[in-house]
Amino acid sequence: MIPCPPVEMRVAAPEVAPMASISPGDRPGYAAALEPSRRGWVTLPLWCVWVEPPGPDLWSKRWHGAVETSLATWATHLKLIRVKNASDAHLRLWRRNPPLQGGRASNGRALLSFELVQRGGKKIVEPLVDLLISPGIRQEAIEATSLHELGHGFGLWGHSDQPTDVMAAKPGPTPIKQLSKRDRLTLNWLYNQPSGVSP
Ligand SMILES: [Zn+2]
Repeated sequence: MIPCPPVEMRVAAPEVAPMASISPGDRPGYAAALEPSRRGWVTLPLWCVWVEPPGPDLWSKRWHGAVETSLATWATHLKLIRVKNASDAHLRLWRRNPPLQGGRASNGRALLSFELVQRGGKKIVEPLVDLLISPGIRQEAIEATSLHELGHGFGLWGHSDQPTDVMAAKPGPTPIKQLSKRDRLTLNWLYNQPSGVSP
C-alpha cells in the first residue's frame, strides 16, 4: 500500500459519546496529565504531514526553516511522511498567528478535529490537526513553539509541570529544542496504548 494515498472525500466525522474516564494510575513521565479525546488516544502508526510552503520573502523562509528543524526532531521518534497537498494530510502546519483567546495572544495553537475520509476507496475516521505557528517571533521561539505544538498534534494532549520538557505548561527561560527523557517516556507510554483512531 502506498503511504498517505490521496484523499477522495472528506466530511466531518459523526459525533460519538465520550469514552468513560480512566483513572490515570501509575504512568511514566507526565502521562498522567494527558487527556484522551472523545474517541480515545489520538495516535497513528504513520503521520501524513503538510507544511505551508515558504513565499519569496526572508521571513517566511525563516519560519519554514525553524518548523522543518522541529519536524526533523519529531521524525527521530515517530514515523512521518510529507505530503504535497494539504488535503491529503493528518497534520498541517500553517504560518499564521493564532486568533486571540480570551483577549490574549499566543505563539502557537493546536486544533484537533475528526473527519470521515475516503482514501483508495476505503472510508475511515481520521484525526485532522491544524497547527497555527506565528511567524512574527524569534527563530528560536518558532522552533520551540512548533516543537511543543507538534507534540500536541502527535497526541500529547496535556502539559508537563516541568519547564525542561517540550510539553511544559509554562516554558522556562531557555527554549527547549530536544525531547527530554520525560517527554520520551511519556510519548513511549502513549504509543503503547490502544489508539482511538488508528486504521
Ligand atoms: Zn501546549
